Amino acid sequence: MNKPKIWLSSPHMGGGEQKFIQEAFDTNWIAPLGANVNGLENDLENYLGEDKFVGALSSGTAAVHLGLILLGVEAGDEVICQSLTFSASANPILYLGATPVFVDSEYDTWNICPQSLEKAIQDRIAKGKKPKVIVAVHLYGVPYKIEEIRAVADRYEIPILEDSAEAIGSSYKGQKCGTFGEIGILSFNGNKVITTSGGGAIITKTKEVKEKALFFATQSRDNAVHYQHSEIGYNYRLSNICAGIGRGQMEVLDARVQARRMMHDFYVDLFKEVAGVTVFTAPNNDYFANYWLSAVLIDPQLTKGIDRESVRLVFEVENIECRPIWKPMHLQPIFEKYPFYGTTVAATLFENGLCLPSGSNLTDEDRARISEVVKKIFK
Ligand SMILES: *Cc1c(COP(=O)(O)O)cnc(C)c1O
Repeated sequence: MNKPKIWLSSPHMGGGEQKFIQEAFDTNWIAPLGANVNGLENDLENYLGEDKFVGALSSGTAAVHLGLILLGVEAGDEVICQSLTFSASANPILYLGATPVFVDSEYDTWNICPQSLEKAIQDRIAKGKKPKVIVAVHLYGVPYKIEEIRAVADRYEIPILEDSAEAIGSSYKGQKCGTFGEIGILSFNGNKVITTSGGGAIITKTKEVKEKALFFATQSRDNAVHYQHSEIGYNYRLSNICAGIGRGQMEVLDARVQARRMMHDFYVDLFKEVAGVTVFTAPNNDYFANYWLSAVLIDPQLTKGIDRESVRLVFEVENIECRPIWKPMHLQPIFEKYPFYGTTVAATLFENGLCLPSGSNLTDEDRARISEVVKKIFK
């Protein structure tokens, strides 16, 4: 195969990154602290607004882990988690010796279903344990049902850990994703909307909680001249080099979101006459999605038997990367023994859903190749 690979989602540098990295070298701040770390945190605080505080961490997973700790999760607790997500939303629940309780999705946003969530909470309480935290996710950058989920969470006084790893630049009614939960998290992994090569952030309501997060992230060092520790610590701070990449990426964030949204428009147009294929789209104008990944649902009953996997394989032969949507956590070998509330929404989305190349750096030529393949499959 000699056609160049079209990736699902690859890093897209803006050009400004190098100058921040050079500054780190020039000042010898080659460490998990320094001007770029502080600068990136400031940039993110200004970008998100809502008087939030941001701590830069080594990954989104680390942010989920510390978020759960800050919300008081301990061994033996139960934590509700959206089932249809990447495993990093759920793994930290197990790191803490807590029990995940998975909840199904709804079809409008593909995210945690308010009705199933309430049923789960009621049943867990009836069984003797009130869940400690709700982990809600903005899948592929489409916000979850913010108001409905918050209403349920408030009714039972359970804090939300908002997994906004895929949703930097998305918003609901003009408020940025990442600022809705008691604690929010972001990811700057290599395939996300912007990247630091690897990195993440925790978003808090107060300076005190941010400082506690950074305390945990730097080995929980007590205030003493020698190394003294009264709590378990972690090595989760972001390096000043990576943060430099992040500062450069913040300069182009709006352009990157615009380009991802343009890819989504491209697919809406491409599939508008294809019966049985629908492009995953936010339910109405209250939802502003960054469309980190564009995804389609393929209904083989309406496509004369063409299913998600057969489409993926044709793209693969053309050296174009597509990927089934996240396999729900309650169907994963590592998680299937834990409770699940809901029906078959997440399972059906997984069965029929395919993510298509969505990078902000895709070219007209790439789009022409994708378009040709789609036309060949659904002629
Ligand atoms: C990417 C991602 C994470 C984890 O982020 P890392 O920076 O890769 O650790 C968490 N949750 C979701 C939903 C993600 O997509």
